[in-house]
Amino acid sequence: MRHQLLILCLLLGGCSMGPKTFTGDKVESRTCRWCNGSGQNTEPEGEGGPVRGGACPGCGGSKTVQVIVPGPKHPALVKGTVRDIAKAPAADDGLTAMMEAREPMKPITGGISGAKASFQKDGSTQEISSASSGRFKILLEPGHYQVHVTADGFADLDTELDVAPRKEPIWQERAHLKTEAAEADTSYFDAALKAR
Ligand SMILES: [Zn+2]
Repeated sequence: MRHQLLILCLLLGGCSMGPKTFTGDKVESRTCRWCNGSGQNTEPEGEGGPVRGGACPGCGGSKTVQVIVPGPKHPALVKGTVRDIAKAPAADDGLTAMMEAREPMKPITGGISGAKASFQKDGSTQEISSASSGRFKILLEPGHYQVHVTADGFADLDTELDVAPRKEPIWQERAHLKTEAAEADTSYFDAALKAR
């Protein structure tokens, strides 16, 4: 009996070790997008080189991949910044601020370290601190949030944020393909604080 359970777990993708799903999510099996269902690694060794061969890095040779179609409660990634408004790009230069926030390697002009941002919805609150760069990342259930941002030496900021529901399927591949579609499911939040 125990053996049967173990086998079932393996078939389901590892039970508790499997992908986390939320109410309203659907899990589907789809043809692997790395190998188009051949199960073979068709990537060349280098530019114009011979084909590597062996099992597909996406599906491990099984030809299909489990895909989570996110429901309305599936948490979405929110990437944010907290800045000192005196050092931040001017208000009319929103493009610079936006570019900095979206490019992970760019420094955040006027970024505030250790700022606290709390996100409140339906009576529950999630809190995050900004890193030394002034950036933070948090996973939030889609919906409308009241946001409260605090930092030593700065006036508190109260604002709101809409976290959009995720639209793109989440591929449970062994080796992930980075796609623009996945990036589009990220919400951004930029807070500029005034010195007290
Ligand atoms: Zn494959």
